[in-house]
Amino acid sequence: MKSLEERIRKDGIVKSGNVLKVDSFLNHQMDVELFNEMGKEFKRLFADRPINKILTIEASGIGIACIVAQHFQVPVVFAKKTQSINIDGEVYSTKIESFTHKRVYDVIVSRKYIQPTDHVLIIDDFLANGCAVRGLIDMIQSAGATVEGVGIAIEKGQQPGGRMLREDGIRVESLAIIESMDDETGTILFREQ
Ligand code: 5GP
Repeated sequence: MKSLEERIRKDGIVKSGNVLKVDSFLNHQMDVELFNEMGKEFKRLFADRPINKILTIEASGIGIACIVAQHFQVPVVFAKKTQSINIDGEVYSTKIESFTHKRVYDVIVSRKYIQPTDHVLIIDDFLANGCAVRGLIDMIQSAGATVEGVGIAIEKGQQPGGRMLREDGIRVESLAIIESMDDETGTILFREQ
């Protein structure tokens, strides 16, 4: 999506450790007009899929997922990060290693909100090594529901998550794919899509 690429070029800040900061329009202050364009584009890309639910992970996926959900007219469920793993059987749980915080979270979703009949679209802000998306897929599959696809705002193509998911037959659509970025010059190159 050209407008997202342009915005990343204009306002994204390349940090060391392969981290891109997009706090001014996506991760802290949120540009809802841009989110709305993203929602429209995901709806176009996944028009052939019978999606009835969107799943994301707190916190930074929630804003985007809510705007995307308006285009699909379906509810959003967000996976919650938790300190103490709930063993009463009322939740699906998985472990997700955070790329940005370098720690492992237990993540849960109530069994009430993912049913075997659900056709789920996963939405997240970034795709890096793929841990977050893998964890969400794991919980959808535990519920016996169907993963219809994964919609990502910014994929860091220099990291393996996207390639590995596609090799496993998961449909991944990323609105901007970074080919490389340099924290010394601030240069960001995008993959042609
Ligand atoms: P993964 O699990 O694919 O390694 O990383 C994806 C998650 O880490 C996303 O949910 C996102 O919040 C965070 N993340 C990964 N890379 C970046 C990055 O370069 N910038 C920001 N802001 N978040 C990132």
